[in-house]
Amino acid sequence: MANYQHLLLAVDLSEEAEQVVTRGKSLSEICGAKLSIVHVLEPISFTYGGDIPLDFSGIQEEIQNQAKQQLTALSQSLDIPEAAQHLVLGRPETEIHNTATQIGADLVVVGSHGRHGLALLFGSTANGVLHGAGCDVLAVRVKE
Ligand code: AMP
Repeated sequence: MANYQHLLLAVDLSEEAEQVVTRGKSLSEICGAKLSIVHVLEPISFTYGGDIPLDFSGIQEEIQNQAKQQLTALSQSLDIPEAAQHLVLGRPETEIHNTATQIGADLVVVGSHGRHGLALLFGSTANGVLHGAGCDVLAVRVKE
């Protein structure tokens, strides 16, 4: 079986992302694989359930700018060029799948808290990415 050729690191930009990217980076070096990175921003309108119509465009733009800066800094520390950095709007599971397909990744690397019981029933991003992925998925167990 051939080595992985293109790894996609899915990062939530939290402190735990460090553990995911460290594992992904060393795996890419072992395999001689290309490395890409994705962060998905959920539009505020997805989470706002109020009845009053509000304009979130200013806040959304500010959040997007901050995420872009964080993603750029993290990518630079991993030597990931700008063309391989993906900041996407939408639902994390869906957009991680879409990005993996678009770039032809053969391994998606996500973090996993190893939740069980009720938390597992309600699902996690790692779970969502695993189900329906068109390629292999590596779940890196993150320590909180
Ligand atoms: P969670 O289940 O939300 O705790 O997240 C587990 C893992 O899913 C994270 O360590 C990331 O690898 C990935 N992930 C979660 N949210 C996002 C996001 N917004 N964009 C990209 N990857 C994410």
